[in-house]
Amino acid sequence: MSKRDYYEVLGVDKNATAEQLKKAYRKKAIQYHPDKNPGDANAEEKFKEAAEAYEVLNNPDKRARYDQYGHAGVGGAAGSGFGGGGMNMEDIFSQFGDIFGGFGFGGSGQSRGGRRRVNRGSNLRVRVKLNLKEIAHGTEKKIKVNKYISCDSCHGSGAEGGGSYTTCSTCHGTGHITRVQQTFLGQMQTQSVCPSCGGEGKIITNKCKKCAGNGIVKGEEVITINIPAGVEDGMQLSVSGKGNAAARGGINGDLIVVIEEIPHNDLKRDGTNLLYDHYISFPDAVLGTTIEIPTVDGKAKVKIPAGTQGGKVFRLRGKGLPSVEFHGVGDLLVNINIWTPQKLSNEEIAIMERFKNSPNFDPKPTSKDKSFFDRMRDYFHN
Ligand SMILES: [Zn+2]
Ligand SMILES: [Zn+2]
Repeated sequence: MSKRDYYEVLGVDKNATAEQLKKAYRKKAIQYHPDKNPGDANAEEKFKEAAEAYEVLNNPDKRARYDQYGHAGVGGAAGSGFGGGGMNMEDIFSQFGDIFGGFGFGGSGQSRGGRRRVNRGSNLRVRVKLNLKEIAHGTEKKIKVNKYISCDSCHGSGAEGGGSYTTCSTCHGTGHITRVQQTFLGQMQTQSVCPSCGGEGKIITNKCKKCAGNGIVKGEEVITINIPAGVEDGMQLSVSGKGNAAARGGINGDLIVVIEEIPHNDLKRDGTNLLYDHYISFPDAVLGTTIEIPTVDGKAKVKIPAGTQGGKVFRLRGKGLPSVEFHGVGDLLVNINIWTPQKLSNEEIAIMERFKNSPNFDPKPTSKDKSFFDRMRDYFHN
């Protein structure tokens, strides 16, 4: 299933300001809010879709990546194995704090019956180095990550033996306290996080000794990352839920994988195309030859016809890299240079002197022998 464009989801144009995004999102969130559309799966999908779009576009980094690479740049490529778009309802409601300014949500938020705060683990970043071959085919990497993991002694609950809690007496388990204030707009209800329980609604009576009641401990995990073909240096992929574990059974953070490309010895990358510079000898240029050139997977032969000019580019279709967004595969462009000999024997000089007077050796470029500028134009428009 292809994902809809985030700008389209929110109904804003590409240049929308932060304020316009917020306004557009607020409108969608109110329209599709689950409280207003009970049991309507389609509305819930739309609600989540809008939240995900806002989450990306509201973050300048993510927005820039999305603008450049599309869904793939923010971990949402279909079938790429990344958990993009995995926002759940808890994430979405926790986002509402800044959108709706902490006031009751459209009159219906209160009816959710005092949502408690959910702890969230922080995101982790790792760098993964890839060579061109791995980039060309996509790869699976197993990496060991030092991170907070759920405490095995209390199963992440923070309570010794798995269960000695009391309901918080300050907030009666709701996790927040409500204040009524008189403002120039009239009476306003504001909610804030309960200071006694930190918003969790419960208090541990007997803390786990191993994790001191946090529910998490320092540890490590080996994580398998599926990297899609065609990624580029600096791209970031997000693996949902593989960051730090959250205190006391909350939502895990994400693992952000930053791609680092190891340069190839011979092949230079230009988007999905690969460039290779090759020198042939002067007699080979005149008489023709077959050259062997490196490719991502091995070698390829290229026939150089007799009379090849320096600067000629041979295009090996499909021998470049795949596009991470499934827009096909690039080419391998072989740029031919002709090596002019710099040291000659007396005999060779004598032969050259003879060639000099032959009219065949006078340059006579025709329209077929394109200029450097024409070749560059062809290259950038193909
Ligand atoms: Zn513990
Ligand atoms: Zn409390």
